[in-house]
Parts: sequence; structure tokens; C-alpha cells
Amino acid sequence: MFIDVHMHEMTYSKDSFLKLDEIVRIAKEKGLGAICITDHDSMGFKELAKEYTRKTGYPVFVGIEFFSLQGDIVAFGIDNYPKERVSAQEFIDMVKAQGGVCFAAHPFRNNRRGLEEHLREVKGLDGLEVLNGSTSKEACKKAAEYAKELGLFTLGASDCHVPEKVGVCVTYFPEEIRTFEEFLAAFCKGDMKPAYYEDGEYKIFT
Ligand SMILES: [Zn+2]
Repeated sequence: MFIDVHMHEMTYSKDSFLKLDEIVRIAKEKGLGAICITDHDSMGFKELAKEYTRKTGYPVFVGIEFFSLQGDIVAFGIDNYPKERVSAQEFIDMVKAQGGVCFAAHPFRNNRRGLEEHLREVKGLDGLEVLNGSTSKEACKKAAEYAKELGLFTLGASDCHVPEKVGVCVTYFPEEIRTFEEFLAAFCKGDMKPAYYEDGEYKIFT
């Protein structure tokens, strides 16, 4: 199934124009089986997401996009995160200590928010976002090369802040995922692949 693993909802991401209802409507139209809200330096949406899933049955998982001193990292499966900026390694260590998973978001986007060459130094990342809906093709290609070299899982995500971007890039998981626990387990297994939406359907990126 296809899941958008990096999205911003306006309640806790002040740069987003998207409300959850609209995100889910578009996600369903495109055929996504679940979505992940990963707000900037906040997991405030956790309870709202749980409530939404309980009411509607549509899986909404909450992670975080943490702006470390070296760049953005998306993490899942944690309860605690630093309240101020810390180094990428410190953040990753914190994620791992809580049994969470994490990936580098848009590592080579040219807005100084990607880990770039720090990818070679940090230890403990699970994956790299090699398709990002708001990043150039060249930057995505470079991320894919680094993922291969460093032996990291590859993911795709829209990083959406506006309706047009919802679900443009996503991650394909071979297993059916209904719960957050299943999502974490599938993530740890690492059989996911990045995918993109084109001509009304998802295509797996190879
Ligand atoms: Zn983002």
C-alpha cells in the first residue's frame, strides 16, 4: 500500500495551508491507504490524529520533522523530543533510545535544511527521503545515490503544505498497514520503495 510519510497540517505547522479533512480527502482520491502528519518540531497533532482515526477509521500516523543543527530529520515512534535545536546525532540517538525510526528529509534541497554531507557522519539513520514533492529532480537523484552508498532505506513523500502537493510523492510498503505498530514494524523491515503520482496512478521509482 501507498503512504505519504511526510506532510504538514496547519494546526501545528504554521507554514501549512492544509487542514486534515482536506489532506485525507485528496489522499483517498489518489488511493493512499494511510497518511503521516510530521509537523515542524511538534507532535501536538498526536491526540487529534488518534481521535480522527477512531472516528473515521482512516489511519493518520503522527511523527515529527525535527530541525536539527545540521538539517531536517523525520522521526516516528517517539514521545520525547528536544525543545530546542540539537545536533543531528543527538536527535537520532534520542530517537533510537526510545525505539523509534528516522529518516533524513530532502537531504540535498537547496534551502540549507537538508543534512547534505553530514549524511556521511551521522550514525543511526534508517532511511533517506529520495523523492520529495518539493525538491528538485537533481537533489532527489543525489539523495538516491547517497542512500545506495550508505545502505539506507529509501522513501518518498510529498512534504505537502498546499493541496496541489498532497500525495505527489509517497512510499510503497508491500504489507498492509492499519495501525501505527504495523507501520513501525514495516518501516523497520525496510522493504519500502519510493513512488510518485503520474497520470492518475502511483508508479514505483527505481
Ligand atoms: Zn516538511
